[in-house]
Amino acid sequence: MSRNKKTALVWFTNDLRTKDNAILNQAILENDRVISVYIFDDSLCKLGDYGFQKTAAHRIQFNIESVKDLKVQLLDLNISILTYVGKAELIIPNLVEKFHISCVYKQREWTRDEIATLNKVQLKVASSVKLKTVYNQFLYHPDDINFQIEDVPDVFTVFRKNIEKNLSVRPTTKAHKLEESNLVQNPTQIPYLEQLGYQKIPKPKHTAFPFKGGTTAAEERIHKYFFESQKLGVYKKTRNGLLGIDYSSKLSPWLANGSISAPMIYWEVKKFEKLFYKNQSTYWLIFELIWRDFFKYISLKYQNKIYLLSGIKEVHYDWSNNQQMIKDWINGSTSEPFINANMIELKQTGWMSNRGRQNTASFFAKTMKLDWRIGAAYFESMLLDYDTHSNYGNWMYVSGVGNDPRDRVFDTMWQAQRYDPKSKYQLLWLQKKLF
Ligand code: FAD
Repeated sequence: MSRNKKTALVWFTNDLRTKDNAILNQAILENDRVISVYIFDDSLCKLGDYGFQKTAAHRIQFNIESVKDLKVQLLDLNISILTYVGKAELIIPNLVEKFHISCVYKQREWTRDEIATLNKVQLKVASSVKLKTVYNQFLYHPDDINFQIEDVPDVFTVFRKNIEKNLSVRPTTKAHKLEESNLVQNPTQIPYLEQLGYQKIPKPKHTAFPFKGGTTAAEERIHKYFFESQKLGVYKKTRNGLLGIDYSSKLSPWLANGSISAPMIYWEVKKFEKLFYKNQSTYWLIFELIWRDFFKYISLKYQNKIYLLSGIKEVHYDWSNNQQMIKDWINGSTSEPFINANMIELKQTGWMSNRGRQNTASFFAKTMKLDWRIGAAYFESMLLDYDTHSNYGNWMYVSGVGNDPRDRVFDTMWQAQRYDPKSKYQLLWLQKKLF
């Protein structure tokens, strides 16, 4: 590769898409050549905080599928993606040297683990190599907001009203196709689950999330949920459901690893509203995406405080770490069948509904008074859609150390009667059968 040409390395992390990807666009615009890389960290299967795997098998499988799909999308643009298992701080500097990279592009992050990785890479690459990080994960872009980050409202409604009144969602973008000569020899292979130290896991046939990773599957889901079945039009009525694939959009796992962007969803909702109708349900999906942004802005404001026991509220309660109670919760062996059914669903599929998450988290932190960070770390390990801002933001909220102005406790038995009156959901998962 000629040294006179400017070559970029796009380091994909949680932005596994070519459409509406600001980093990819910028790299293409500013360079003559573009190569990309994705690294499966080799310590994900190891035990992390509180004895849980950092990432359990369901999410790894989903990410493998997503990277496979990304590889196809990139090939359409004549961009190679090199895939490795290992440590970014060893792999990136090697690639920088081998391909005479002048700039590395990456999604901008601001939380603990992500910053630590970036710092390690920065220390190992030559100071002449630029590391450009760009926000790529918001619905409402941080460069467009009309307040300082330290003034982000702590109450969701105040945040939402300000955003809705003053900001617009940016239009989505398409990456520019490069010449075929941009491709490089690529001997790397996307690893199998087993190569990453995981065992294959059976997918229960009644899972509420039977979908594959990747942009193609995400777009298919949007097409079916929005335009074919028009379930979007009744979303507000069904969103507290527990059973089946259609009570909610199920877009969160693709959003979490960036197979789709929030603006891509927003503009599809707008398309639906133009083609069919606009109602409370179509608005409510966007309303929920604003919750997603809210927790990102809250973590931008409070940074790593979101991981502290006293939370962003800095309140101190007596927390327990009774090991038996924690085990019972994880294994679905508490005194409450509704909690148990949800925890078994999570363990077997990596999925749990929003209603289930609120109840199981409240039961953990408010009823059993267990250290909420342990519950959050278990969710972090298991959830297909784990997103650090949404997970820790919601856990703080439910545990009384975050943004809930009312500090509610869920009456989980009442909730079970209200949302699962015939116990259909509980019976499904309490049978503990996979097939
Ligand atoms: P839909 O109801 O179809 O909503 C559409 C989108 O809006 C979702 O995909 C999601 O991106 C966003 N959204 C909806 N509700 C919330 C919310 N409360 N907070 C933030 N964004 C929201 N969501 C994650 O994406 N990752 C997590 O790690 C995560 N952890 C959670 C932990 C707890 C304790 C709780 C109570 C909630 C958590 N959530 C998390 C939020 C919410 O439960 C999921 O986003 C939602 O269930 C995903 O299903 P869906 O895509 O069908 O959502």
